Amino acid sequence: MEPTEAYAREADAADPLRDFRREFLFPQHEGRDVLYFTGNSLGLQPKGAALILQEELEDWAQYGVEGHFQARRPWYSYHELFSESLARIVGAKPKEVVAMNGLTTNLHLLLVSFYRPEGRRRKILCEERPFPSDTYAMASQIAFHGGDPEQDLVEMRPRKGEHTLRTEDIEARIAELGDELALVLFGGVNFYTGQAFDLEAITRAGHAVGALVGFDLAHAAGNIPLKLHDGGVDFACWCSYKYLNSGPGSVAGAFVHERHLGTDLPRFAGWWGHDKDERFKMERTFKPMPTAEAWQLSNAPVFAMAPHRASLDLFDRAGMDALVAKGRRLTAFLEAVIDQVASDTGKQLEIITPRDPDQRGCQLSVVLHGEGRALFDELTRHGVVADWREPNVIRLAPVPLYNGFQDVWRFGEVLKECLS
Ligand SMILES: *Cc1c(COP(=O)(O)O)cnc(C)c1O
Repeated sequence: MEPTEAYAREADAADPLRDFRREFLFPQHEGRDVLYFTGNSLGLQPKGAALILQEELEDWAQYGVEGHFQARRPWYSYHELFSESLARIVGAKPKEVVAMNGLTTNLHLLLVSFYRPEGRRRKILCEERPFPSDTYAMASQIAFHGGDPEQDLVEMRPRKGEHTLRTEDIEARIAELGDELALVLFGGVNFYTGQAFDLEAITRAGHAVGALVGFDLAHAAGNIPLKLHDGGVDFACWCSYKYLNSGPGSVAGAFVHERHLGTDLPRFAGWWGHDKDERFKMERTFKPMPTAEAWQLSNAPVFAMAPHRASLDLFDRAGMDALVAKGRRLTAFLEAVIDQVASDTGKQLEIITPRDPDQRGCQLSVVLHGEGRALFDELTRHGVVADWREPNVIRLAPVPLYNGFQDVWRFGEVLKECLS
């Protein structure tokens, strides 16, 4: 792969997904689209979002309460509109997934069911530097059960001198913790390093010592290929506003493996988790849905969910296989461009995301040795939207739905200019 403008132009011309770019609204910088590489933080707005939201407002105006059954997309069963598309994205059966709540809320609800410390088996193993919200959720769940997070929340550190974890080390650590391990909870893709973990290997290792295994897929859903069902993952959750482009704080998702459905796992229950055919009997005894919907609490927040539906239409049309294939090439191109700029300018730009395409999605985290915030601010002034993490990391996510190879090429030119 040549880091040249000619390559970028040819790759864009041959890209079967190139027209999807026109489905999105780009922020503007000096009269043209910004170079937007923060789809891992907040995905761009699909043009279809406004239309579908407008339709829900119209149906509310026209039908009032009757909209629950008479709306174009009846609100009573609104969440059901998401299951098939989400199942394709995370590799699950439709009954194993549900769109609901926020991500951290779902993590808590799932931990209530799947973190059940008992006797010696109390520990949770996670990767180093999980997203802070996940740390708060895990630590507070441990404390809620009377445990000590200092003891029971175990972070897995990379080897000295390395930035990311080796699968064999994760497996060894799980085996070592053995019957003290209640739960393994990793990100699907680490938000900081961009490392994609081997979900199947981690799940196998966790199950081998009798632990349950869950994943936070905030940076994985809509980004990397996932096979939650076949991989035997116990549970997972994700948000919809990063790679899934559904708008700030939009509705999150949850997965519960089929083998846990219809069981007597403890859960915090609400009426929308009750058997839908008998929901309005308003019985005192909770009768859970035989699906992941059993974890729902409330009726669907339709206005938050409508843009999610518009976005999933694009994923349905594009297909995860095509998105993953382009995402890999685009990320490899960004890698080649950054390496070229580093060599042209003599600067040290260290990519800490794994070089192996199987161990990453479409994010590269770059450590700017000797450069800092000033460079980042300069990039911003040139119309690059990237993400800065203290002390000196830039995260860049070229996403296949709306980024092209020429965006990446232009970024390289801007980077070179800012460095010199
Ligand atoms: C983005 C992100 C969150 C954010 O949590 P919300 O509940 O959606 O605010 C949590 N965990 C991870 C791993 C994330 O990447």
